[in-house]
Amino acid sequence: MRVYIETYGCALNRADTALMKSLLSASGHEIVQTIDDADVVIINTCTVRKDSEERILKRLSSLRNLNGKRLIVAGCMAAAQPYTILKHVPNAALLSPQHVTEIVSLVESSAPKHLVGGERDVSYLEPYLEDRVATIPIAEGCLGDCAFCIVKIARRRLRSYRPGLIVRAVRKAVDRGALEIDLTAQDTGSYGVDLGGVRLPDLVRRVLAEVDGNYMIRIGMMNPDTVSDVLDDLIEVLRDRRVFKYVHLPLQSGSDKVLRIMKRRYSVDEYREIVRELRGKVEGVTIATDIIVGHPGEDDEDFEMTIEIVKELMFDKVHIAQYTPRPRTEAAAMRQVPEGVKKARSTALALLVEEIGRRQNFEYVGSLAKVLVATRSFRGDALGRTFNYKPVVIKEHNDFRGYGVARIVGATFFDLRGRLEKKLDEA
Ligand code: SF4
Repeated sequence: MRVYIETYGCALNRADTALMKSLLSASGHEIVQTIDDADVVIINTCTVRKDSEERILKRLSSLRNLNGKRLIVAGCMAAAQPYTILKHVPNAALLSPQHVTEIVSLVESSAPKHLVGGERDVSYLEPYLEDRVATIPIAEGCLGDCAFCIVKIARRRLRSYRPGLIVRAVRKAVDRGALEIDLTAQDTGSYGVDLGGVRLPDLVRRVLAEVDGNYMIRIGMMNPDTVSDVLDDLIEVLRDRRVFKYVHLPLQSGSDKVLRIMKRRYSVDEYREIVRELRGKVEGVTIATDIIVGHPGEDDEDFEMTIEIVKELMFDKVHIAQYTPRPRTEAAAMRQVPEGVKKARSTALALLVEEIGRRQNFEYVGSLAKVLVATRSFRGDALGRTFNYKPVVIKEHNDFRGYGVARIVGATFFDLRGRLEKKLDEA
């Protein structure tokens, strides 16, 4: 079969696409680049927010008539909203993330089956390489029960991949030329809780000990409540020169009242303490966070608390999301914050985040920074990363990949601009 795959959403979905491609190719099927050339069309969906859902449904509607080609709808929407999909494309086959390893049988089956529910098979893992960056999922699902989140419905309860499987996947990626290894999950902090005895720092140590090579590791998003169990060990691991001094720690709100409504399992004080500990013990560490504005229950005073904590903690990066109700979630049934209020709060927070980002990044101008260039920016320039994962756009060396020293010649609120002064053999 000639198979076309279209992917939406996060690193986990992109890794699932890489897994499907490798299983299909290994079974003799061909991955093609256009729908015209395909016998089977796979849409790997995302439904994390209302706008992502609308985008997918619009795309599916445009694929109602494929002239005999078969349609498979995969990803989070297949798991969380199967009926909604079938209302738009009744003849589609469904493949939820739990069944992604069964893609070959679905492509080879003439009848449109619906493979949803159940638990993910975590005995097979494939690295996803884009340029010289490899994304490696270390777990599927999470331990959370956040009131706003549809992902927990789509990806279900935590299932960690065994350390040996992850080590092999990292080695495979490094053998294929990867220089940056992104260990990703919905919550890397909960890694191994279901395995008994091995946690995130142990895993990273094993990878560093068992995989030789000139690579650097970026540890993906982690929740404050799960990472606090392993914080001391994580700090030690973050100090390894082959690990980016970068922590993505979603706060979501600066108000304890709203955190309780969201069913997040930490307080603002506990969050503050983790950040203080990291900054005190990991020199130059970058802290990125996620903030939801306009969650049900958030009033002006709560939002003011969010503004104050952002000012206080001076995050290096903030992903701002306006709350949107998701089906089958508790928060969707709560009294909603008016759209205009959400928008105004999002704008106010974005202005503050930009101002902080500009102030912090301009401090780098004039300095020399060691960088790892493993990919390119969306404009096609070489994109380097400093030891603390700050993005450095480097002109005139588009094809360079590896380690180097850059003079920082400019900055914006979200990245640095550099001139490559020297190439290095290793980190
Ligand atoms: S931890 Fe919460 S926000 Fe994250 S995936 Fe799980 S339920 Fe969703």
